[in-house]
Formats: sequence, C-alpha cells, structure tokens
Amino acid sequence: MATYAGPVQDLIDELGRMPGVGPKSAQRIAFHLLKLPKEDAVRLARVIVEAKEKVAWCERCFNLSEGPLCGICADDRRDAHTICVVEEPKDLVAVEKTGEYRGKYHVLQGAISPIEGIGPDQLRVKELLTRLDPEGVTEVILCTNPNIEGEATAMYLGRLLTPLGIKTTRIASGLPVGGDLEYADELTLGRALEGRRDI
Ligand code: ZN
Repeated sequence: MATYAGPVQDLIDELGRMPGVGPKSAQRIAFHLLKLPKEDAVRLARVIVEAKEKVAWCERCFNLSEGPLCGICADDRRDAHTICVVEEPKDLVAVEKTGEYRGKYHVLQGAISPIEGIGPDQLRVKELLTRLDPEGVTEVILCTNPNIEGEATAMYLGRLLTPLGIKTTRIASGLPVGGDLEYADELTLGRALEGRRDI
C-alpha cells in the first residue's frame, strides 16, 4: 500500500490500530477526516481527549465510571449478594435495559481467546475473586456472550467458583448462538437471565 507524507501517514497508522479497522478503512477514514471542516475535526479531537480525561474504570467492577466507583456500585439499593459477570460495559448496558436485574456487576474487559492470546490473566478475574468474601456474594451469574470465547470464559469461571461454594449460574440458551449480548433484544435477554441454570 502506498505511503503518504508524514502527518497523513501518521493519521492512517493511528486509525489502523483501532479494532476492526483494516488498512483500507483507515485510509478511507483518514481522507474523510481531512475533508471535514476544521471545526468538525477539532470537535472530534476534543471529545476524545475529554472522554480520556473524565472517564476511567470503576475500581470495584471495572465498568466505565467518572469517579472511583460507578453509579451501580455506589447504589446501596442494589442487591450486593449477586454479581452478574459480563465481558464489556456494553453488555452491562444490555442487561440493564432488560430491567430484570437488580444486583451488581463485574466487567471482565474481554473474554478468553487463545487465538488472540487472551487468557484469564489478561481479564479482571483476580479482581472478581477478591470481591466475593468482602461483599458477601452468594450468586455469580455468568453473562458472557453466547459464542466460543464467551462459553470458554463461562466454563473457566464456573470451574473456579463452584468449589468456593458460590452458586454459579449461566444465562439460559435461547440467545442467538455465536451472537453478541448487545444484539439480543431486551425480552430475549431478560428471559435468558430469568431462566439461568446452575453450572
Ligand atoms: Zn462499579
């Protein structure tokens, strides 16, 4: 692929590091940005900087948070004895939308994927284990995606948690296999939560 002069190539290189953006898409986005009115490009740059400065990870559940604790961890009205384990903050949002869940969450920030070299150590698994005792957790719901990585992650966590005497459940099947939680409609995901089973 042709290379461009300094700043243009820098832009293409940076965009090419985004997930799911190949060299061709990176080039297309770069030229789109270069054609934008200057104030539009500046606004985009500013929201990126602002998001990076203001948003961090909740120090308890690793959800997105503007303070040390996210809104859900800070909410005393939620049932602290149940933790719903999800892969990413977007999955937490999907579960919240069902309106069926009143417990807390734990965001793994990914799923086990040998192909991508992601093992349990790259995920927030240790942090989940250290929460169980102090928070008096009695049930962990494994709400990882219904695909190969999500199932492998749920199986791994199940083997870890069950011997600890924690009731460990997996959301019911019925979700589109190979899909992502975020694409499941609220009713289906709500039913999958309700129909969760011991593993
Ligand atoms: Zn939190």
